Amino acid sequence: MSGISHNRPTLGIEEEQAAVRVIHSGWLAQGKEVETFENEFCDFLGIPHGHAVAVSSGTAALYLALCALNAQGKKVALPVYSCSALRNAVAMSGSQAVFIDTSPGSPNVTCDVLNASGAEVVIVPHMYGLPIDLTNVGNIDVIEDCAQALGAAVKGMPVGLQGKIGVYSFYATKLITSGGQGGLIASRERSLADSIRDYREFDCRHDRKNRFNFQMTDLQAAIGRIQLSKLPTFLARRSEIFDHYKSAGLNMLDVMSGTGSVPVRYRAVMKTSLVEEIIASLKAKGVKAIVPIEDWELLDTSTAYPNAFRITRETVSLPIYPSLSDVEVETVISAVGKR
Ligand SMILES: *Cc1c(COP(=O)(O)O)cnc(C)c1O
Repeated sequence: MSGISHNRPTLGIEEEQAAVRVIHSGWLAQGKEVETFENEFCDFLGIPHGHAVAVSSGTAALYLALCALNAQGKKVALPVYSCSALRNAVAMSGSQAVFIDTSPGSPNVTCDVLNASGAEVVIVPHMYGLPIDLTNVGNIDVIEDCAQALGAAVKGMPVGLQGKIGVYSFYATKLITSGGQGGLIASRERSLADSIRDYREFDCRHDRKNRFNFQMTDLQAAIGRIQLSKLPTFLARRSEIFDHYKSAGLNMLDVMSGTGSVPVRYRAVMKTSLVEEIIASLKAKGVKAIVPIEDWELLDTSTAYPNAFRITRETVSLPIYPSLSDVEVETVISAVGKR
């Protein structure tokens, strides 16, 4: 056996056949497949067709969400403990980043900190598939970053629909992939989806407005459609693996029970004071584990974020993906040992 990787996309014969079908069709660029993917995504979220727009990446989706909310020149709050895509999208949009700390012992921010940020727009990532209940956010435009949380829900509502705009990523190792790269925005407000669709439709327009090519291809969408249909199976297997880790006594980051938050198991992150030791003993058994976000990856270099800094020193991300076998899960558990 050649070792156990930290992450791996799960693709099968169905994705292969879908790609071949599009190649033979003679239509590769954005077309019918993209539209159908968007419609199927709306069905998945339970919103009317027309309320989802597929784009080239999650980062592009964040940028377009900021444009649709007229964020240029405004303050946009974002957690320091998240993906660099957030900082990049904010910078590209010409808005002003207001970095915020996470809640103690959690990879997520709280509504109180969002409300106190003084920002007009906030980007809220549901880190590691653990959804945040945004009911108590005041009068702020919320962009929910669901790149790591597709399929999670809060009090019966899928993530992405709590705020103004939901943003999704289909990068290779996210919960589903549209062939390596891809993204999507969804909104309960049709006008926001329409303004983003307009921005993406850059060619052959008479009004000379600035637009940009953020399109997904039909080849990508055809793969994404198959992956979306497999999402329930993927999530079920990820849950099983997470539960194995939990019942073996590993101290996993999780949502509080009884809060109505339904997580998805994008990452299996354990809390420990023995980060280096555990990564080394896993490595000795051929298992790749990582610090999910290191201190130098925090989005702001100031030291004013004690909770975020602390969690970078106390977390190890273990392998979790649908093709990870029970035997491999046992290997991980025994390599971590009793700690
Ligand atoms: C992956 C990710 C993104 C960026 O998505 P891309 O498709 O890679 O551009 C944004 N936010 C979060 C939280 C992510 O995990």
